[in-house]
Amino acid sequence: MGRDRSAELRRRLDRLDAQSCCIVLGCPNPSRAAASEGFDERFCRRHHEHYQRHGSPYRASYSAAELVEPRKWAAAWLKLNGNSDEVGSALERVRILYRSAGVAVPAFRLRGLSAKERARKAWARLRDAQVPPERILAAWLAVQRALATDPEADSRPEFARVQAAKLVHRLASGTRKTWVQERLDGGKRVERIEVYPRSRGKVLRVLGEQIADAADPISALLQ
Ligand SMILES: [Zn+2]
Repeated sequence: MGRDRSAELRRRLDRLDAQSCCIVLGCPNPSRAAASEGFDERFCRRHHEHYQRHGSPYRASYSAAELVEPRKWAAAWLKLNGNSDEVGSALERVRILYRSAGVAVPAFRLRGLSAKERARKAWARLRDAQVPPERILAAWLAVQRALATDPEADSRPEFARVQAAKLVHRLASGTRKTWVQERLDGGKRVERIEVYPRSRGKVLRVLGEQIADAADPISALLQ
């Protein structure tokens, strides 16, 4: 085998390796497709999982501490621009989401519903918990601010949407279930569980898209 041919072979093998490797910089793991775990040629299992939960394969969700300043900024921004037409129509869009959400169902009955239905139920829960529409916009604004001031931000729109969805999702409380159990000695024991809908995967994408859509009128003011 001549020198040229072996170099060519080396190049081809390198290319093949690159394709079967997770695309996150520095990650040595095989992609899920290469590991025979489906058709995902981009990420390894770990980074796929991260991507599902956070909306970015590598950037973690913003922590409460990281959001302190952005939240303050968002509140101040809304105070300043609250009377504008843009904010008015964004708020109206949130109210439409509330109004068209149908009846809320307890979190433990969400199993089996599609992501779209789950997102609708999230809006119904927010409405029933009387979460002011301003808080939805404030969450979206805080994420925009966090992204703008984060040198390591994942700049793809999906990250922003998932981050906003996580904040909004958290505003809708879980379902509390209480029941009384008779004890053998005749006493009573109160059992309480709280069920929070899982906050990951496709429902966050749907919710995030709806939030971004509602907030669209004010994005022009942020430029
Ligand atoms: Zn990886």
